[in-house]
Amino acid sequence: MKAIAVEPGAGEPVVVERPRPEPEPGEALVRTYRVGVDGTDHEVIAGHHGEPPAGEDRLILGHEAVGIVEDPNGTELEAGQYVVPTVRRPPNGTNEYFERGEPDMAPSGEYHERGIVGAHGFMAEYFTSPADYLVAIPEALADLGMLVEPISVSEKAIEHAVASRSAFDWEPESAIVLGNGSLGLVTLAMFEAVLDIDRTYCLGRRDRPDPTLDIIDELGATYVDSRETPVSEIPDVYEGIDLVYEATGYARHAVETVDALAPNGVGVLLGVPEPWEFEIDGGRLHRELVLHNKALLGTVNSHRGHFESAVDTLSQLPTWFTDDLVTGVYGLDEYERAFESGNNVIKTVIGFETN
Ligand code: NAP
Ligand code: BGC
Ligand code: ZN
Repeated sequence: MKAIAVEPGAGEPVVVERPRPEPEPGEALVRTYRVGVDGTDHEVIAGHHGEPPAGEDRLILGHEAVGIVEDPNGTELEAGQYVVPTVRRPPNGTNEYFERGEPDMAPSGEYHERGIVGAHGFMAEYFTSPADYLVAIPEALADLGMLVEPISVSEKAIEHAVASRSAFDWEPESAIVLGNGSLGLVTLAMFEAVLDIDRTYCLGRRDRPDPTLDIIDELGATYVDSRETPVSEIPDVYEGIDLVYEATGYARHAVETVDALAPNGVGVLLGVPEPWEFEIDGGRLHRELVLHNKALLGTVNSHRGHFESAVDTLSQLPTWFTDDLVTGVYGLDEYERAFESGNNVIKTVIGFETN
Protein backbone atom coordinates (compact mmCIF):
# COMPACT_ATOMS: atom_id res chain seq x y z
CA MET A 1 0.00 0.00 0.00
CA LYS A 2 0.99 3.64 -0.41
CA ALA A 3 1.76 5.91 2.55
CA ILE A 4 3.02 9.49 3.01
CA ALA A 5 6.15 9.61 5.16
CA VAL A 6 8.81 12.12 6.10
CA GLU A 7 12.29 12.12 7.55
CA PRO A 8 11.68 14.89 10.11
CA GLY A 9 13.95 17.89 9.69
CA ALA A 10 15.60 16.43 6.60
CA GLY A 11 13.11 16.63 3.77
CA GLU A 12 9.63 16.94 2.35
CA PRO A 13 6.96 14.23 2.68
CA VAL A 14 7.23 11.49 0.05
CA VAL A 15 4.99 8.61 -1.04
CA VAL A 16 6.43 5.25 0.08
CA GLU A 17 5.35 1.61 -0.35
CA ARG A 18 4.57 -0.31 2.83
CA PRO A 19 2.96 -3.71 3.44
CA ARG A 20 -0.74 -3.50 4.25
CA PRO A 21 -0.98 -3.93 8.06
CA GLU A 22 -2.56 -7.08 9.53
CA PRO A 23 -4.92 -6.52 12.47
CA GLU A 24 -3.96 -8.20 15.76
CA PRO A 25 -6.74 -9.66 17.98
CA GLY A 26 -8.86 -6.74 19.25
CA GLU A 27 -7.82 -4.57 16.31
CA ALA A 28 -9.77 -3.66 13.19
CA LEU A 29 -8.38 -2.98 9.71
CA VAL A 30 -9.48 0.44 8.46
CA ARG A 31 -9.39 1.78 4.88
CA THR A 32 -8.31 5.39 5.11
CA TYR A 33 -10.80 7.89 3.66
CA ARG A 34 -9.43 11.36 4.52
CA VAL A 35 -6.57 12.77 6.62
CA GLY A 36 -6.22 16.45 7.56
CA VAL A 37 -3.00 18.46 7.77
CA ASP A 38 -2.43 20.96 10.60
CA GLY A 39 0.30 23.18 12.07
CA THR A 40 1.67 20.23 14.05
CA ASP A 41 2.32 18.28 10.83
CA HIS A 42 4.40 21.22 9.59
CA GLU A 43 6.27 21.27 12.92
CA VAL A 44 6.92 17.51 12.62
CA ILE A 45 8.12 17.86 9.00
CA ALA A 46 10.49 20.65 10.09
CA GLY A 47 11.85 18.40 12.86
CA HIS A 48 10.68 20.76 15.64
CA HIS A 49 8.26 18.34 17.29
CA GLY A 50 7.78 14.58 17.50
CA GLU A 51 9.95 11.70 16.26
CA PRO A 52 9.69 8.51 14.16
CA PRO A 53 9.28 5.09 15.78
CA ALA A 54 12.45 3.88 17.53
CA GLY A 55 15.07 2.70 15.07
CA GLU A 56 13.36 4.22 12.00
CA ASP A 57 14.32 7.31 9.99
CA ARG A 58 10.90 7.99 8.50
CA LEU A 59 7.55 8.65 10.11
CA ILE A 60 4.24 8.04 8.34
CA LEU A 61 2.39 11.31 8.93
CA GLY A 62 -1.24 11.97 9.79
CA HIS A 63 -3.18 12.22 13.05
CA GLU A 64 -6.50 13.75 11.88
CA ALA A 65 -8.14 10.82 10.11
CA VAL A 66 -11.43 9.27 9.13
CA GLY A 67 -11.69 5.80 7.60
CA ILE A 68 -14.01 2.94 6.73
CA VAL A 69 -13.86 -0.36 8.60
CA GLU A 70 -12.54 -2.89 6.06
CA ASP A 71 -12.24 -5.85 8.43
CA PRO A 72 -13.79 -5.70 11.92
CA ASN A 73 -11.69 -8.78 12.77
CA GLY A 74 -14.07 -10.02 15.47
CA THR A 75 -14.45 -6.63 17.20
CA GLU A 76 -17.87 -5.03 17.75
CA LEU A 77 -17.34 -2.76 14.72
CA GLU A 78 -19.14 -3.37 11.44
CA ALA A 79 -17.57 -3.56 8.01
CA GLY A 80 -18.32 -0.38 6.05
CA GLN A 81 -18.87 1.90 9.05
CA TYR A 82 -17.00 5.19 9.27
CA VAL A 83 -14.63 5.67 12.21
CA VAL A 84 -12.22 8.30 13.52
CA PRO A 85 -9.09 7.05 15.35
CA THR A 86 -7.85 8.67 18.55
CA VAL A 87 -4.18 9.70 18.50
CA ARG A 88 -2.39 8.33 21.59
CA ARG A 89 -1.33 4.73 22.12
CA PRO A 90 0.48 3.16 25.09
CA PRO A 91 4.18 2.51 24.30
CA ASN A 92 4.46 -0.79 26.20
CA GLY A 93 1.20 -2.69 26.60
CA THR A 94 -0.72 -0.29 28.81
CA ASN A 95 -0.35 2.08 31.76
CA GLU A 96 -2.54 3.76 34.37
CA TYR A 97 -3.46 6.74 32.13
CA PHE A 98 -4.76 4.50 29.34
CA GLU A 99 -6.48 2.21 31.84
CA ARG A 100 -8.35 5.23 33.26
CA GLY A 101 -9.31 6.34 29.76
CA GLU A 102 -7.20 9.50 30.16
CA PRO A 103 -4.28 9.01 27.75
CA ASP A 104 -4.36 12.78 27.10
CA MET A 105 -3.09 13.29 30.67
CA ALA A 106 -0.13 10.90 30.30
CA PRO A 107 3.33 12.47 30.67
CA SER A 108 6.06 12.15 28.03
CA GLY A 109 7.34 8.59 27.79
CA GLU A 110 3.95 7.14 28.75
CA TYR A 111 2.41 7.57 25.29
CA HIS A 112 3.07 7.50 21.57
CA GLU A 113 1.11 9.78 19.27
CA ARG A 114 0.30 8.28 15.89
CA GLY A 115 1.79 10.43 13.13
CA ILE A 116 3.63 12.62 15.65
CA VAL A 117 5.66 10.90 18.39
CA GLY A 118 7.05 7.36 18.20
CA ALA A 119 4.29 5.72 16.13
CA HIS A 120 3.29 5.82 12.47
CA GLY A 121 0.26 7.88 11.55
CA PHE A 122 -2.80 7.42 9.38
CA MET A 123 -1.60 8.83 6.02
CA ALA A 124 -1.60 5.38 4.46
CA GLU A 125 -4.17 3.52 2.39
CA TYR A 126 -4.91 1.28 5.39
CA PHE A 127 -4.22 1.35 9.12
CA THR A 128 -4.99 -0.94 12.02
CA SER A 129 -6.14 0.14 15.47
CA PRO A 130 -7.60 -1.41 18.60
CA ALA A 131 -11.36 -1.00 18.28
CA ASP A 132 -11.37 0.88 21.62
CA TYR A 133 -9.53 3.73 19.91
CA LEU A 134 -11.96 4.01 17.00
CA VAL A 135 -14.91 6.37 17.39
CA ALA A 136 -17.97 5.88 15.17
CA ILE A 137 -19.08 8.77 12.96
CA PRO A 138 -22.26 8.98 10.86
CA GLU A 139 -21.73 8.52 7.12
CA ALA A 140 -23.31 11.95 6.56
CA LEU A 141 -20.36 13.54 8.39
CA ALA A 142 -17.64 11.36 6.84
CA ASP A 143 -16.40 14.01 4.38
CA LEU A 144 -15.60 16.21 7.39
CA GLY A 145 -14.44 13.41 9.69
CA MET A 146 -10.85 14.70 9.70
CA LEU A 147 -12.13 17.69 11.70
CA VAL A 148 -13.19 15.51 14.64
CA GLU A 149 -9.64 15.28 16.06
CA PRO A 150 -8.93 19.05 16.14
CA ILE A 151 -12.43 19.72 17.49
CA SER A 152 -11.77 17.11 20.21
CA VAL A 153 -8.63 19.02 21.24
CA SER A 154 -10.81 22.10 21.80
CA GLU A 155 -13.50 20.07 23.57
CA LYS A 156 -10.83 19.13 26.10
CA ALA A 157 -9.38 22.65 26.31
CA ILE A 158 -12.80 24.19 26.95
CA GLU A 159 -13.69 21.48 29.49
CA HIS A 160 -10.49 22.16 31.44
CA ALA A 161 -10.91 25.94 31.23
CA VAL A 162 -14.48 25.76 32.53
CA ALA A 163 -13.49 23.25 35.23
CA SER A 164 -10.78 25.64 36.46
CA ARG A 165 -13.52 28.25 37.13
CA SER A 166 -16.06 25.83 38.59
CA ALA A 167 -15.46 26.78 42.22
CA PHE A 168 -17.41 30.02 41.79
CA ASP A 169 -20.20 31.49 39.68
CA TRP A 170 -18.46 32.13 36.34
CA GLU A 171 -20.40 32.99 33.22
CA PRO A 172 -18.03 33.98 30.39
CA GLU A 173 -19.45 36.74 28.20
CA SER A 174 -16.37 37.36 26.08
CA ALA A 175 -13.83 35.05 24.46
CA ILE A 176 -10.90 35.48 22.11
CA VAL A 177 -9.08 32.97 19.97
CA LEU A 178 -5.45 33.93 19.38
CA GLY A 179 -4.62 32.61 15.92
CA ASN A 180 -6.55 32.32 12.66
CA GLY A 181 -5.11 28.98 11.58
CA SER A 182 -7.29 25.90 11.21
CA LEU A 183 -7.37 25.14 14.95
CA GLY A 184 -8.15 28.75 15.83
CA LEU A 185 -10.98 29.07 13.31
CA VAL A 186 -12.58 25.76 14.27
CA THR A 187 -12.52 26.87 17.90
CA LEU A 188 -14.00 30.26 17.04
CA ALA A 189 -16.83 28.47 15.25
CA MET A 190 -17.37 26.34 18.37
CA PHE A 191 -17.60 29.49 20.49
CA GLU A 192 -20.16 30.93 18.08
CA ALA A 193 -22.22 27.87 17.18
CA VAL A 194 -22.06 25.70 20.26
CA LEU A 195 -21.22 27.84 23.31
CA ASP A 196 -23.37 30.73 24.37
CA ILE A 197 -20.71 33.47 24.41
CA ASP A 198 -21.98 37.00 23.73
CA ARG A 199 -18.86 38.63 22.30
CA THR A 200 -16.11 36.78 20.43
CA TYR A 201 -12.82 37.99 18.97
CA CYS A 202 -10.07 36.41 16.87
CA LEU A 203 -6.47 37.60 16.62
CA GLY A 204 -4.36 37.42 13.47
CA ARG A 205 -1.72 39.40 11.58
CA ARG A 206 -3.21 39.61 8.09
CA ASP A 207 -4.43 42.39 5.79
CA ARG A 208 -7.79 42.28 4.11
CA PRO A 209 -8.88 40.80 1.77
CA ASP A 210 -8.13 37.43 3.38
CA PRO A 211 -10.25 34.27 3.52
CA THR A 212 -9.65 33.72 7.24
CA LEU A 213 -10.78 37.27 8.03
CA ASP A 214 -13.91 36.70 5.92
CA ILE A 215 -14.67 33.65 8.09
CA ILE A 216 -14.10 35.67 11.28
CA ASP A 217 -16.53 38.33 9.98
CA GLU A 218 -19.13 35.81 8.92
CA LEU A 219 -18.97 34.10 12.32
CA GLY A 220 -19.89 37.46 13.84
CA ALA A 221 -16.55 37.82 15.68
CA THR A 222 -14.34 40.91 15.84
CA TYR A 223 -10.95 40.69 14.11
CA VAL A 224 -8.03 41.91 16.24
CA ASP A 225 -4.83 42.64 14.28
CA SER A 226 -1.84 41.85 16.53
CA ARG A 227 0.30 44.35 14.57
CA GLU A 228 -2.02 47.16 15.75
CA THR A 229 -3.21 45.78 19.07
CA PRO A 230 -0.76 43.59 20.98
CA VAL A 231 -2.46 40.93 23.07
CA SER A 232 -1.59 42.75 26.30
CA GLU A 233 -3.45 45.87 25.09
CA ILE A 234 -6.72 44.12 24.22
CA PRO A 235 -8.45 45.32 27.45
CA ASP A 236 -7.57 48.97 26.62
CA VAL A 237 -8.83 48.81 23.04
CA TYR A 238 -11.69 46.30 23.39
CA GLU A 239 -12.41 44.81 26.84
CA GLY A 240 -10.90 42.43 29.38
CA ILE A 241 -11.60 38.91 28.10
CA ASP A 242 -13.17 36.12 30.18
CA LEU A 243 -11.77 33.23 28.12
CA VAL A 244 -8.57 33.42 26.05
CA TYR A 245 -7.73 30.46 23.79
CA GLU A 246 -4.17 30.60 22.43
CA ALA A 247 -3.59 28.82 19.10
CA THR A 248 -0.72 30.80 17.55
CA GLY A 249 2.23 28.91 19.01
CA TYR A 250 3.78 32.38 19.52
CA ALA A 251 5.36 32.21 22.96
CA ARG A 252 4.83 35.87 23.90
CA HIS A 253 1.10 35.31 23.65
CA ALA A 254 1.22 32.86 26.57
CA VAL A 255 2.55 35.60 28.82
CA GLU A 256 0.49 38.45 27.34
CA THR A 257 -2.67 36.39 27.83
CA VAL A 258 -2.53 37.25 31.53
CA ASP A 259 -2.93 40.95 30.66
CA ALA A 260 -5.69 40.26 28.14
CA LEU A 261 -7.83 38.50 30.75
CA ALA A 262 -10.65 40.13 32.69
CA PRO A 263 -10.58 39.57 36.46
CA ASN A 264 -11.50 35.90 37.24
CA GLY A 265 -10.78 34.92 33.63
CA VAL A 266 -8.95 31.90 32.29
CA GLY A 267 -6.37 31.58 29.54
CA VAL A 268 -5.89 28.22 27.90
CA LEU A 269 -2.70 27.61 25.94
CA LEU A 270 -2.50 25.19 23.01
CA GLY A 271 0.51 26.31 20.95
CA VAL A 272 3.71 24.27 20.82
CA PRO A 273 6.50 26.86 20.32
CA GLU A 274 10.23 26.43 19.90
CA PRO A 275 12.38 27.56 22.85
CA TRP A 276 12.64 31.38 22.81
CA GLU A 277 14.16 33.64 25.46
CA PHE A 278 12.65 37.11 25.97
CA GLU A 279 12.27 39.53 28.85
CA ILE A 280 9.11 39.80 30.92
CA ASP A 281 8.16 41.59 34.12
CA GLY A 282 7.66 38.48 36.23
CA GLY A 283 6.64 40.41 39.30
CA ARG A 284 3.79 42.16 37.53
CA LEU A 285 2.68 38.90 35.92
CA HIS A 286 2.63 37.09 39.24
CA ARG A 287 0.78 39.95 40.93
CA GLU A 288 -1.80 40.18 38.14
CA LEU A 289 -2.60 36.46 38.36
CA VAL A 290 -3.00 36.59 42.13
CA LEU A 291 -4.79 39.88 42.71
CA HIS A 292 -7.33 39.26 39.93
CA ASN A 293 -7.94 35.53 40.46
CA LYS A 294 -6.75 34.71 36.94
CA ALA A 295 -5.90 31.22 35.70
CA LEU A 296 -3.50 30.13 32.98
CA LEU A 297 -3.41 26.52 31.90
CA GLY A 298 -1.89 24.39 29.18
CA THR A 299 -3.67 21.52 27.47
CA VAL A 300 -2.74 18.90 24.92
CA ASN A 301 -4.45 16.08 23.07
CA SER A 302 -7.90 14.66 23.97
CA HIS A 303 -9.55 11.40 25.03
CA ARG A 304 -12.32 9.26 23.59
CA GLY A 305 -15.09 11.21 25.35
CA HIS A 306 -13.82 14.42 23.73
CA PHE A 307 -13.92 12.71 20.32
CA GLU A 308 -17.53 11.65 20.94
CA SER A 309 -18.48 15.24 21.89
CA ALA A 310 -16.59 16.47 18.83
CA VAL A 311 -18.74 14.35 16.50
CA ASP A 312 -21.80 16.08 17.95
CA THR A 313 -20.16 19.52 17.70
CA LEU A 314 -19.17 18.86 14.08
CA SER A 315 -22.81 18.16 13.23
CA GLN A 316 -23.73 21.62 14.58
CA LEU A 317 -21.18 23.66 12.61
CA PRO A 318 -22.68 25.63 9.73
CA THR A 319 -22.08 24.18 6.25
CA TRP A 320 -20.79 27.48 4.87
CA PHE A 321 -18.11 27.41 7.58
CA THR A 322 -16.79 23.91 6.86
CA ASP A 323 -16.99 24.63 3.10
CA ASP A 324 -14.80 27.72 3.53
CA LEU A 325 -12.45 26.10 6.07
CA VAL A 326 -11.48 23.11 3.90
CA THR A 327 -9.52 24.77 1.11
CA GLY A 328 -8.34 21.61 -0.65
CA VAL A 329 -8.79 17.83 -0.77
CA TYR A 330 -5.91 16.25 -2.71
CA GLY A 331 -5.44 12.69 -3.90
CA LEU A 332 -2.14 10.81 -3.64
CA ASP A 333 -1.28 11.94 -7.17
CA GLU A 334 -1.02 15.57 -5.97
CA TYR A 335 -0.38 15.03 -2.27
CA GLU A 336 2.36 17.75 -2.22
CA ARG A 337 -0.35 20.40 -2.53
CA ALA A 338 -1.74 19.40 0.87
CA PHE A 339 1.53 20.55 2.47
CA GLU A 340 1.70 23.96 0.78
CA SER A 341 1.06 26.99 2.92
CA GLY A 342 -0.09 30.50 2.10
CA ASN A 343 -2.81 32.96 2.96
CA ASN A 344 -5.35 31.12 0.78
CA VAL A 345 -4.65 27.79 2.49
CA ILE A 346 -6.60 27.01 5.66
CA LYS A 347 -7.33 23.28 6.12
CA THR A 348 -5.94 20.88 3.54
CA VAL A 349 -6.77 17.20 3.34
CA ILE A 350 -5.38 14.06 1.71
CA GLY A 351 -8.28 12.19 0.11
CA PHE A 352 -7.33 8.54 -0.29
CA GLU A 353 -10.29 7.96 -2.59
CA THR A 354 -9.72 11.22 -4.51
CA ASN A 355 -8.01 11.19 -7.92
P1 NAP B 1 -1.34 27.19 12.10
O1 NAP B 1 -2.19 26.83 10.95
O2 NAP B 1 0.12 27.39 11.91
O3 NAP B 1 -1.98 28.50 12.75
C1 NAP B 1 -1.32 29.43 13.55
C2 NAP B 1 -1.95 30.78 13.26
O4 NAP B 1 -1.46 31.73 14.20
C3 NAP B 1 -1.61 31.29 11.86
O5 NAP B 1 -2.80 31.66 11.20
C4 NAP B 1 -0.72 32.50 12.12
O6 NAP B 1 -0.92 33.56 11.23
C5 NAP B 1 -1.18 32.93 13.52
N1 NAP B 1 -0.14 33.65 14.23
C6 NAP B 1 1.10 33.22 14.56
N2 NAP B 1 1.78 34.18 15.21
C7 NAP B 1 0.95 35.26 15.29
C8 NAP B 1 1.06 36.56 15.82
N3 NAP B 1 2.21 36.97 16.40
N4 NAP B 1 0.01 37.39 15.74
C9 NAP B 1 -1.13 36.98 15.16
N5 NAP B 1 -1.32 35.77 14.62
C10 NAP B 1 -0.28 34.91 14.68
O7 NAP B 1 -1.49 26.08 13.23
P2 NAP B 1 -2.79 25.32 13.80
O8 NAP B 1 -2.89 23.98 13.18
O9 NAP B 1 -3.97 26.21 13.74
O10 NAP B 1 -2.31 25.11 15.31
C11 NAP B 1 -2.02 26.22 16.14
C12 NAP B 1 -1.01 25.84 17.22
O11 NAP B 1 -1.61 24.89 18.08
C13 NAP B 1 0.28 25.18 16.71
O12 NAP B 1 1.37 25.60 17.51
C14 NAP B 1 0.01 23.69 16.92
O13 NAP B 1 1.18 22.93 17.13
C15 NAP B 1 -0.79 23.74 18.18
N6 NAP B 1 -1.69 22.59 18.40
C16 NAP B 1 -1.73 22.12 19.65
C17 NAP B 1 -2.61 21.11 19.97
C18 NAP B 1 -2.69 20.63 21.37
O14 NAP B 1 -3.21 19.54 21.61
N7 NAP B 1 -2.19 21.41 22.34
C19 NAP B 1 -3.44 20.56 18.97
C20 NAP B 1 -3.36 21.07 17.67
C21 NAP B 1 -2.49 22.11 17.40
P3 NAP B 1 -0.26 33.59 9.73
O15 NAP B 1 -0.82 32.37 9.04
O16 NAP B 1 -0.79 34.85 9.14
O17 NAP B 1 1.21 33.52 9.90
C1 BGC C 1 -2.53 16.93 17.96
C2 BGC C 1 -2.67 16.36 19.34
C3 BGC C 1 -1.28 16.16 19.93
C4 BGC C 1 -0.52 17.48 19.89
C5 BGC C 1 0.88 17.39 20.47
C6 BGC C 1 -1.71 18.17 17.98
O1 BGC C 1 -1.62 18.68 16.70
O2 BGC C 1 -3.79 17.26 17.40
O3 BGC C 1 -3.38 15.15 19.28
O4 BGC C 1 -1.38 15.71 21.25
O5 BGC C 1 -0.44 17.93 18.55
O6 BGC C 1 1.71 16.50 19.78
ZN1 ZN D 1 -3.24 18.25 15.42
